[in-house]
Amino acid sequence: MKRLALVATIVLLALVAAVAQGKRPAGTTHSGKAFRFNKVKDGVYHAVGTGSLAVVGNSSIIVNDEDVIVVDDHVSPAAAFVLLEEIKEFTNKPVRTVINTHFHFDHAHGNQIFDPTVQIIGHEFTRRMLLNNSIGMPLYHNYLNGMPMQIEDLRKRIAAESDAAAKAKLQTQLQVTENNFASQKELKPTPPNVTLTTQMSLFRGKREIQIRFLGRGHTAGDVVVYLPNEKVVMTGDFLTAGLSNMSDSFPNEWADSLEALKKIDFDTVLPGHGEAFTDKAKIDYFQAYLRDVWSEVSRLKKQGVSPEEASKRADLTKHKEHLPIQGPGVPLIGVQRIYSLLDGKL
Ligand SMILES: [Zn+2]
Repeated sequence: MKRLALVATIVLLALVAAVAQGKRPAGTTHSGKAFRFNKVKDGVYHAVGTGSLAVVGNSSIIVNDEDVIVVDDHVSPAAAFVLLEEIKEFTNKPVRTVINTHFHFDHAHGNQIFDPTVQIIGHEFTRRMLLNNSIGMPLYHNYLNGMPMQIEDLRKRIAAESDAAAKAKLQTQLQVTENNFASQKELKPTPPNVTLTTQMSLFRGKREIQIRFLGRGHTAGDVVVYLPNEKVVMTGDFLTAGLSNMSDSFPNEWADSLEALKKIDFDTVLPGHGEAFTDKAKIDYFQAYLRDVWSEVSRLKKQGVSPEEASKRADLTKHKEHLPIQGPGVPLIGVQRIYSLLDGKL
């Protein structure tokens, strides 16, 4: 009898686990499509959020002969779950591989929804961060802690809004934020189960997929994904369509690491934020910005200026022609990072 009870318990536990695995995460509700899948080359798509669901970063989808590779999986379990649902609308091949370009929440917080048989590939540093304290880092900490206030603020604005169209828009924003918050509560940071330190290649039929670490920059472990036959490179936040955040960066090494990117033979960039682009001069513009932000913030620190004050005063407006810069100022989190680097704390 005891044995029978034990077997029954094991069967029940297996059932619970199976249901849990396929379970729809909290916060997936949205209207219309959550993603635009921009076809870049045959079988290569750049997935950009429409705004109906919080997804934050972009992903890239590579459809091979037998399987699908997803590069980055967005800000939450909910976003990754909906991504997989929408991928099914254009291919029934299974997602067997995920690549994390880096550890940041907006690129790796969907990892947990994948079956353990799915390979999640990332730099060794990315694994270490997601295993240890990635959610305690200031970038995510600020993001998550800001959400209740954002929700409160949206509720107040909705109550005060008299224009019906504006009110409806705010209501959508509120729903998107509340859903994101609900999904963040279910977050279990999940590290890559396959790691690399410099380079690895995957071969799928005729397609070659290179995963390369080009040096420290946006973090200590950003990788780019390069398809040599298609001449496409997926750059995460190592190179975006605009400015990347600097909270975990090495701005003094980043420009040199970008030099290695220039040596790769590609014609299209699929960035972690913003639309796909072909203009390689964007690398030069961003390198020039990085060199100047480092020297400008260093100059202010040498004068004894506080990070808060330097964040307001640092003037990079000479780069505004090519980068989204409205006026003087650099985000405080980036300035604090540079101060720590200058102090030799990292
Ligand atoms: Zn990002």
